[in-house]
Amino acid sequence: MAKGYDANRERQQDVAAFGKILGKRGGFSCEWCGGKGDLRPWDHRPDAEPSPETLALLCARCRELAEGKQAEPNELHSLRNALWSDIPAIAEGAARVLLRSKEPWVREAVEESLIDEGVKQELLKG
Ligand SMILES: [Zn+2]
Repeated sequence: MAKGYDANRERQQDVAAFGKILGKRGGFSCEWCGGKGDLRPWDHRPDAEPSPETLALLCARCRELAEGKQAEPNELHSLRNALWSDIPAIAEGAARVLLRSKEPWVREAVEESLIDEGVKQELLKG
């Protein structure tokens, strides 16, 4: 079996091992929308070593959004609070989903957020 497969599987196990920490941190609800459905760790930085900063506990719907599904306007509002998190996987991940929509309040909300200034400029540029 190719090396990439094993490395990937090991990584999945590493990520899964953070599930408990993330669950406690998020009060066992989705760290983006507060939902409770099928919570699993989501990998914000698949190219970096997994850590609580690069992982967020997300519900099934938010994981779909994270993978590129377009959010409904009413869903966007439930992600807004996530921008205020000091955990990059939560704030930056949610900002990326929000900015894919062209809702006028989104850019303003991201600008006001506490996301690292350099990252914020990068997000707003895209
Ligand atoms: Zn969610």
